[in-house]
Amino acid sequence: MKPPRKLHIKSYGCQMNVYDAQRMVDTLAGEGFIETKSVDDADLVILNTCHIREKASEKVYSELGRLRVAKHDAARAGRDMRIAVAGCVAQAEGEEIIRRAPAVDVVVGPQSYHHLPELLKRAGTHGRAIETEFPAEDKFTFLPQPRREAIRARGISAFVTVQEGCDKFCTFCVVPYTRGAEVSRPVARIIEDVKQLADNGVREITLIGQNVNAYHGEGPDGSTWPLGKLLHRLAEIRGIVRLRYSTSHPRDVDDSLIEAHRDLPALMPLVHLPVQSGSDRILSAMNRKHTVAEYRKAIDRFRAVRQDIAFSSDFIVGFPGEREEDFLATLALVTQIGYAAAYSFKYSPRPGTPAAEMQETVSAADMDERLVRLQELIDRQQSAFNVAAIGTTVDVLFERAARNVGQIVGRTAYLQPAHVMASSDIIGEVRPVRIDSLERYSLLGELVSPAPAIRPALSETNIGA
Ligand code: SAM
Ligand code: SF4
Repeated sequence: MKPPRKLHIKSYGCQMNVYDAQRMVDTLAGEGFIETKSVDDADLVILNTCHIREKASEKVYSELGRLRVAKHDAARAGRDMRIAVAGCVAQAEGEEIIRRAPAVDVVVGPQSYHHLPELLKRAGTHGRAIETEFPAEDKFTFLPQPRREAIRARGISAFVTVQEGCDKFCTFCVVPYTRGAEVSRPVARIIEDVKQLADNGVREITLIGQNVNAYHGEGPDGSTWPLGKLLHRLAEIRGIVRLRYSTSHPRDVDDSLIEAHRDLPALMPLVHLPVQSGSDRILSAMNRKHTVAEYRKAIDRFRAVRQDIAFSSDFIVGFPGEREEDFLATLALVTQIGYAAAYSFKYSPRPGTPAAEMQETVSAADMDERLVRLQELIDRQQSAFNVAAIGTTVDVLFERAARNVGQIVGRTAYLQPAHVMASSDIIGEVRPVRIDSLERYSLLGELVSPAPAIRPALSETNIGA
């Protein structure tokens, strides 16, 4: 029997890339590849890239410089190392990657990674293989299901892509060009994936999509299902105790989604709803297709059905034409909403997007200064949100042993990490925890209830096992 070949995969960027990387591992497992953590003993290295901001794509080229040396060293030791570039930089730059980094063997766009085995064979015979088309077939139909052991090794929380691509064309964003038009997977396929995950120990599912709440998949009855209806159906699957979804667009908040938050205890009360700016003038220049007032109305609709709901968001500072008064409007919106967490970025011009052609750019110094002011405000809100948990009892879904011996770590409904001293038996369970203190972003506490009756009582010896 041939020894397995080793695959090292490095992912940059969003949750969808993390998920795509797992599906590439699953696809290549069928070709005899097993994962390795080290580049040095890898037969195949895949960089799963992100093109969303300039820094993210430039990182790829510096990593490719290091890989060229590793490939050279492998060849000197008599080993053949292949290098593949996947993801959004692959899609956006195609052949340019090979021109700048000739050590690369395969370039594969995000819609074609089910063709990886064939591309590797093609590179073996022709030296190179590039595929950046948007193929007519849906890659999900061709991807093998993950193996049981792979699911178990990945833990109790899993991502499932339900929607891909985007038709919104915000003027700053590359996603519509790198991921293509918006498509939704059929309901039946998603149910099948989630059942398989649940049967193998997964307890929490995060549905992902570039515009996840624009989901409109074909239902088993032939009608089109919105995200809320899909969530209702997934909440019925045995073993699934928590549901999340990301990333949403404010324009696509519909009645079905609000009803899902009203009706489903498994649907976690944390919504990531990016707004980018608090100025209508900038939102319009960004082509976000909604106003600040409409965004606030969307927030109010969620709050009306779940008082405990919290929000996170994304912000861009220094979009072309952003003046101090626009930025102050962003700070005012953040203050009014009160976020549990938020990501903020300096605007990065992306080649081929309309905003990259806009003339009225903001100076680097102004961008830096605005980013600091925004992040300070967000940090204060996040700290206040975390501090408010001290002294309360919250449900925690336990995920794994923590680095500190004897501690088990899980997440609250709001994704805050929470640590307790306990037996590893609680991994995969939701248990009430009394929160005693906060250490940076982590909550520390104690289990409130004794172990459930079906479990053996904790003994001195298995505590912290
Ligand atoms: N679909 C989501 C939405 O509509 O908000 C966002 C997806 S994008 C992958 C994630 C975040 O990256 C965006 O919300 C935005 O804040 C940021 N981003 C996208 N393009 C950017 C750019 N050119 N410069 C800086 N940040 C950018
Ligand atoms: Fe990009 Fe999101 Fe706008 Fe689509 S909706 S173009 S993914 S920022």
